Amino acid sequence: MSEPTIFDKILAKEIPSEAVYEDEHVYAFRDISPQAPVHVLVIPRKRMQSFADLQHADPSVVASFMQGVSKAAAKLGLEEGGYRVVFNTGSDALQTVPYIHAHILGGRKLGWPPG
Ligand code: AMP
Repeated sequence: MSEPTIFDKILAKEIPSEAVYEDEHVYAFRDISPQAPVHVLVIPRKRMQSFADLQHADPSVVASFMQGVSKAAAKLGLEEGGYRVVFNTGSDALQTVPYIHAHILGGRKLGWPPG
C-alpha cells in the first residue's frame, strides 16, 4: 500500500490523538476539526483505503469494524439522542484521508440532506 497516512501515524502514536474508545479491532478518536458537539473518527487497526474496499474484506473484519463504531457511539453516550455515521468515500464525497474511517456525529440536531 502507499505511504503511511495521518491515521497510520495516529495509530502508531507518532501523532497525538484523543482516544475515546479502542479494542483489538478499532481505534476511535476525536476529530481535530469537529463539525458537531461530538465528532469522532473510528478506524480499523487493519488499513483499507475506503468504504469501497469493504466488499472485498473478510466479513469478520467488516463486522468487528461496524461493531466498534456502534460501541464507540454507545461509550460517547449518544444512544439516547441519536447520532449519524458517515463514510466519505472517494473524491465526490470529499474523502481527504485514504484510510477508511467512520465519522460519528452527534450532540445536536443534525441537518439533512448534507451538502
Ligand atoms: P474525510 O474528509 O472524510 O477524509 O475526513 C478526514 C477527517 O480527518 C477530517 O474531518 C479532519 O478534520 C480529520 N483529521 C485530520 N487530521 C486529523 C488529526 N491529526 N486528528 C484528528 N482528526 C484529524
